[in-house]
Order: sequence, then C-alpha cells, then structure tokens
Amino acid sequence: MDTEERNDQYDPQHAVHTDNGRYYCDPATGEMLVSCTNALDQHMIEALAPAAAKATAEWLMDNLPDAIRAAADPDDMEAFTKKAKAQYKVQWDKKADLGSRVHHIAEAINLGAPYIPDEEAEPFVESYRKFLSDFGVDIRRGRDIKAAECTVLNRTLGYGCTSDIWVNLRFDGPTSPIVPRFKPRAVPADPIPTPSGLWLVDIKTSLTKPASAVYDDHVMQLAAIRNAEVGLACPPECRYGAAEGHDDSHEFEVPEFVGTAILNLRETTYGFVPLPADAAAFDGFRGLLPLARYVHQLELRGYKPVQPPTNTTRKDAA
Ligand SMILES: [Zn+2]
Repeated sequence: MDTEERNDQYDPQHAVHTDNGRYYCDPATGEMLVSCTNALDQHMIEALAPAAAKATAEWLMDNLPDAIRAAADPDDMEAFTKKAKAQYKVQWDKKADLGSRVHHIAEAINLGAPYIPDEEAEPFVESYRKFLSDFGVDIRRGRDIKAAECTVLNRTLGYGCTSDIWVNLRFDGPTSPIVPRFKPRAVPADPIPTPSGLWLVDIKTSLTKPASAVYDDHVMQLAAIRNAEVGLACPPECRYGAAEGHDDSHEFEVPEFVGTAILNLRETTYGFVPLPADAAAFDGFRGLLPLARYVHQLELRGYKPVQPPTNTTRKDAA
C-alpha cells in the first residue's frame, strides 16, 4: 500500500512498527527498545481526548449541510457518525505525514543533499532555512551540524529515540531575551539561559499551533535523548533486526549538550525555545518506562465476567 511504503520510507533508522507503537530494534542484540515518544504517550493520553474532540468538531462544521441531511434518516446518521469518528485520525495522520516530510527535507539540507520539492512542506522548510541563517549555522559538512536524524539508545533503561539535530550555536551572552511578542504575562519574563556550544534540538511542525507552543512531553523527550548512551551510525545492512555486520565502529557516545531546545517550524515563522531537560525531567520520563513496558505486555482479552457459583442458593432453598 502507498501509505505503508511512505511510512517506511520516512521511518528513522532501526525503528519498527508494533501493535504497541514504535520500538527500536538494537542492531547489536536484536532486543526491542521502546521508543521514547511511545513511552511518553502513556503520559499524554489525557490530552488526546480534547484534541480529538476539537478535530471532530472542526470537521463537523466543515460538513454541516451533510450532517443536517444525515440527521433526517437513522441509517444515514449512523453512517455519518462513523465517518465523523474517523476524521481526527485522518487529520492526525496527515499532520504526522507532513511533519515527516519536513524532517526529511531538513535532513537533506543538513547533509547538503538534493531533495524532491514538496509544495506543502516548502513553507516549513523555508522557516528552517531562516532559523539556520538567523542563528548563523554553517551547514557545510561537519561545521556546525554534528548529527541529524540520529537513532540513539539507552540499553540500560531499555529505550531508543530519534534525535533531530545536534548543532553548534553561538549566542551573544549566557542568556538571551525572549522575543517581545512571546513575553509571558503570568510569570516573570526572565532572560533564558543560552550558553554557546553544542545544542540538542528537536523540530516540531504545526499548521495551527503558535511558534511558542511547548509541552511537558517535549521537555521529557529532550531529557530522554540527552540521557541516551549511544548514537548509531550504521550502514543500511544494519537496518533490520540483529545485524551480523554490526560492531562497535557503528556506535558512538552521545556527547554532552550545553542546552536543549524545541525548534517550532511554522508556515511563515519559527520559534527556537530552550527548555530545561534536566535531571528532574529525566526522572519524569524514566517513571513512564515501567508503565509502558507493563501496559504493552498486558493481555486482558481472556478476562471476562464469570458465572455466579451454583452452590450458593441457600436463600432459595430455605
Ligand atoms: Zn551497525
């Protein structure tokens, strides 16, 4: 199927689809390590319902005449409701697909490689170029971008992630002021620490969210990547399963980062938001791993209501 091929094409190295979401297959051992965003889903479940409700409501507004027509007939209404219920997933898959394409092109830019023009992705790619130029990033091979779309593993804790970019950034001073239009009202707008050096940056694309949007799972995701043990730079032969040809030369230690940030790419702008992916954030993430592991292996399909015992009819007998 077309979508399957596309999904596979944009999958990060060593990523595997399972019934329980994304895992990474360790090329050294064949062991399956849960993806950090998959583990983070254990935390985000509560936020999903309102987001799905919003997507459903928007789709309904766009299809109001059909809805009114369908409401006149019970069968039509059932069919319409079924279609409506599926729409949030359609929307989310579309967004995820656009996000993957933008990531793919950003990676090509980082590597100085050619890429196939993509009309829908282009505005986001333009915002990415603007970020590179505003922050003085030299994309010539190995200058400022040290890694892109890199699979990292923590074998001790049993998880894996894909890291978007590791980039050398030079700031004017140890802190930077907030972009005026994003200054918060509810909390003091302190300047944000921006040490110069190697930054861990994760890219997020959205058609609707503001360039300032960051969430608690972003902080934990950055902490998970920062605390991974090894990065993998494998040849294509290592892509699937335990690879015979895999050896230590395909692995390197994840470096220390002076800072971690989310780079929000939007159609006409971008926001570079440093986040505190510290020990506390990592503790929070770590707490989700046993939960994900437990839930993913839990099999409840055999558990059903049992019949009442037959020997406890004393009341009836009396
Ligand atoms: Zn390898």
